[in-house]
Amino acid sequence: MSASQDVGSELLRLDGVRKSFGDHVVLRDVGLTIEPGQCVVLIGASGSGKSTLLRCVNLLEVVDDGMITFEGRDITDPQVDGDEVRSRMGMVFQAYNLFPHLDVIGNVTLALRLVHGVQAAEARSRGLEMLDRVGLSDKANARPDDLSGGQQQRVAIARALVANPRLMLLDEVTSALDPELVGEVLDLLTELKGEGVTMLLNTHEMGFARDVADQVCFLHDGRIHEQGSPEQVIGDPQQERTRAFLSRIR
Ligand code: ADP
Ligand code: MG
Repeated sequence: MSASQDVGSELLRLDGVRKSFGDHVVLRDVGLTIEPGQCVVLIGASGSGKSTLLRCVNLLEVVDDGMITFEGRDITDPQVDGDEVRSRMGMVFQAYNLFPHLDVIGNVTLALRLVHGVQAAEARSRGLEMLDRVGLSDKANARPDDLSGGQQQRVAIARALVANPRLMLLDEVTSALDPELVGEVLDLLTELKGEGVTMLLNTHEMGFARDVADQVCFLHDGRIHEQGSPEQVIGDPQQERTRAFLSRIR
């Protein structure tokens, strides 16, 4: 167990996070904690700030105010090396962004070799192990174009996982998929949760959130309006805005 886990049980903590673009305030006073092994799901309408929140956590956006603590360290400190922080997080996007000219194993191992300095043979063996974990060991030498959308997204998840990130950030990873392909990706996330992978994600899949999330946060206009267990937030929302949102997407 790492030293940071000895100090406190939190892996990630946000306090009073504020982010604006020009005079448009996109996140206001956002507070959130994630313990190792937890799956925290952000829900909310388009434009409520979910993607921006994920991008602030891995320092793709600079927050205006507040603090983000990751593994016990304030990563909003300007001295912090963003690349180093990102190397300990895995991020997966709605559009899988695989490199079309590389085969699947090449995609999965590229950052391991170039960012993490892992030798080719070891990178390949870790990559194959990860492909096996996402159920795609027979596709190592396929090109992304020859895979279904669901398979491509599983490759993108394997690519993010292969460097053993402490935290996975997943931004609407099933939204671009045909409906019949959504299940295989959600099943994979459910398995990862079972294996103890810590995840912060946003999705419109309320069934998944209800079954897998430890915490659900409802964002509206950049603010967390309601936060708690899925039974509370999805099953028995207390805020009128949460109820209105849930009734629209059901
Ligand atoms: P969500 O993911 O919940 O749909 P976003 O975080 O993408 O919401 O966006 C929240 C708000 O921030 C939106 O109004 C969006 O237009 C705005 N926004 C996001 N990124 C930028 C940016 N780089 N520049 C200006 N406005 C942005
Ligand atoms: Mg978004």
